[in-house]
Amino acid sequence: MAVAALHAAPATLRVVSDNNYPPYLFIGPDHQPRGYLVDEWKLWEQKTGIHVELVPTDWANAQHMLLDGQADVIDMLFRTPEREPLYDFSAPYAKVTVGIYVDTSISGIDDVDALRGFEVGVERGDACIEHLKQHGITALKLYRDYNAMIDAVHQRDVRILCMDDYPANYYLYKNSAGADFSHAFEFYSSEFHRGVRKGNLATLALVDNGMRLITSEERDALRRKWMGNPVNFTPYTQIFAYALAVAGAAGIALAIWVLALRRAVERRTKDLGFLAYHDPLTRLPNRALLVDRIDHAIRQREGARLALFLIGLDHFKRVNESVGHEVGDQLIKDMADRLSGIEQTHTVARLDGDILAVTLLGTLDTTAITAAAERMQRVIAKGFAWQGRNIFVSASIGISTWPHDGDDGATLLKHADAALGLAKREGRARFRFYSASLTSEAQGLLDLGEGLRRALQRDEFTLLYQPQVELRTGRVVGVEALLRWRSDTFGLVSPDRFIPYAEEAGLIGAIGDWVLQEACHRAAGWVRRGWSGLHMAVNLSPRQFGSVNLYEQVSDALGASGLPPQLLELEITEGSLLQHGPAVSDVLSRLRALGLSFAIDDFGTGYSSLAYLNRFPIQILKIDRSFLIGLPDDARAITLTSTIVAMARNMNMRVLAEGVENVAQWDFLRDAGCDCAQGWYIGPPMTVEQFETWMSRGAPFPPGDDFHPDTPGTSTP
Ligand code: C2E
Ligand code: MG
Ligand code: MG
Repeated sequence: MAVAALHAAPATLRVVSDNNYPPYLFIGPDHQPRGYLVDEWKLWEQKTGIHVELVPTDWANAQHMLLDGQADVIDMLFRTPEREPLYDFSAPYAKVTVGIYVDTSISGIDDVDALRGFEVGVERGDACIEHLKQHGITALKLYRDYNAMIDAVHQRDVRILCMDDYPANYYLYKNSAGADFSHAFEFYSSEFHRGVRKGNLATLALVDNGMRLITSEERDALRRKWMGNPVNFTPYTQIFAYALAVAGAAGIALAIWVLALRRAVERRTKDLGFLAYHDPLTRLPNRALLVDRIDHAIRQREGARLALFLIGLDHFKRVNESVGHEVGDQLIKDMADRLSGIEQTHTVARLDGDILAVTLLGTLDTTAITAAAERMQRVIAKGFAWQGRNIFVSASIGISTWPHDGDDGATLLKHADAALGLAKREGRARFRFYSASLTSEAQGLLDLGEGLRRALQRDEFTLLYQPQVELRTGRVVGVEALLRWRSDTFGLVSPDRFIPYAEEAGLIGAIGDWVLQEACHRAAGWVRRGWSGLHMAVNLSPRQFGSVNLYEQVSDALGASGLPPQLLELEITEGSLLQHGPAVSDVLSRLRALGLSFAIDDFGTGYSSLAYLNRFPIQILKIDRSFLIGLPDDARAITLTSTIVAMARNMNMRVLAEGVENVAQWDFLRDAGCDCAQGWYIGPPMTVEQFETWMSRGAPFPPGDDFHPDTPGTSTP
């Protein structure tokens, strides 16, 4: 039997287990797994000659990996009725007790019935859950792992825990929370087994046979090393015993000190080990672990399909700017949790500040992948509740799939990133699949920063003008100047791509100056041509808005061009106002006194507080186009736009809707009382020549095929 099992043996045996279960298994100072199991499996490897790949991960994921076919064996598994249909179990090899731990502020918890009415914290996937449910205790708070549980304890988020005694002892008492927690009662005891997928008896036999080859001396040594060994003290003579007792006391004190020190070091280094593969904020896998998991899934899963979704939260910087990083972080965590709930999810990871990644694994056709992307957008768009209001963010998603778009995690990631770039450039709040042509484009962007430095001298910037019309009359009342970079290397580059570079490189002052002068000069030319009353709206980047010479910059541009200040409108975002508003409020008042007006751009994507805006001289609100997407049918979009319009009017602000793409949106907005609109339905951003031609034709809209938005407005490298 043993021989047969060994013959059928794989070259590598993949074993998964909990990464947070000292002294059995945890992550050591060298970022490598340590503990009893590591040594035991090493012995097993020596005895059988079969390579063992031991993968410590969070417990829920360990079970997921085994059942999903990503691992052969799961270790430290309790045997429960619910698990019977899923696993075959080895004989038990260790007894473990499980306790209920209670914050000392709660009294009277001495058996399981007393838990009724309380919330109990449990690690996700823990057998505790079944035991509690059998006793009718269903108010459970599930945590990703013990670390998350201990964090919750520190934040007073949970006051009763169900935990195995080994880790509880380690975490609760060694992590300084012990003072407030006591062991209320032993809930049950159970035994560790090794498990395989149901029916995989050959692997189970292979494992058991290998384990049997480990001698009892070798096992004793392991136990001594990891669990300590009771000292067998037999007194020799009375005096000698006394001497020994003194030495022993000193020894024990020393041992306790060394142990405490070692635990402290282990705790810290374990954190470091954890951080090597996880994002510290969300405790989700990071880029390295994501790539590894994809690689592994690809190795294991021939015939199935894997889809990688890179999810960028649109305008997330503005959320951070307006409500602060802490709220931004909470929002990210919340979104990551929601994404974990999507079916067939294999891994959810966090890559950079505002980029999350999700992989799905299974028999996925394009329809299923598309449906999943839409679901992701929906769960994110639900908004995030904060201080009584909802912060709305939309998501742009780039998708790559295996086997189509690459054979390994790194390539799939690169390609999903290129697709994400495309989704963002095409106006955000959408998803795009990878296509091969995107690769060279992404490569080219690396050189972008360099080219930008030379662009000003080479006169490579240009402005496009997008008309703004009054909804009631259809009259053109202004234009927004939208910057483009005509680069020899990259073609026509949109500002979303290069403004962040320009800000970082300290070039935004010079570029912004050029935009103001050029726009004022152009608008003054139109006044001379007899087009009276045409406003010129100019975007200011946050840095530009906060700069010390804003007043001089603006008044110089007005003075040099001769444009009446009443025709100049400066667009800023709520985030810049929050960040710099108080410091520059004086400058704003002086500029306002000149006669120009201020507009809040992309309203609704950040702080969204009209009361706050009221402190500053703001005349116009531009509703972000993401709010128009569902109009005129979506109830949420209807409520939001109508509310913004009503409130803004009460505060004597004019409202302009951005991104009007069709007549249905136009009709809705007009009826809702919105003042003005801007968008492709009326006209895309146009070159000077195009705009002048369009005006002289009587500003017809929709503008016709020769004004298709792709022509001047949206082509990018
Ligand atoms: P923004 O100020 O919100 O400008 C509106 C953006 O929406 C423009 O993108 C415009 O092309 C696009 N758009 C207009 N109508 C529609 C529509 O119907 N549907 C869709 N999907 N999109 C529409 P663009 O030109 O790529 O500019 C992007 C952003 O770059 C601007 O957003 C603005 O924040 C910034 N920007 C543009 N020009 C300048 C500038 O001179 N200085 C600074 N600092 N930022 C600028
Ligand atoms: Mg704007
Ligand atoms: Mg806008």
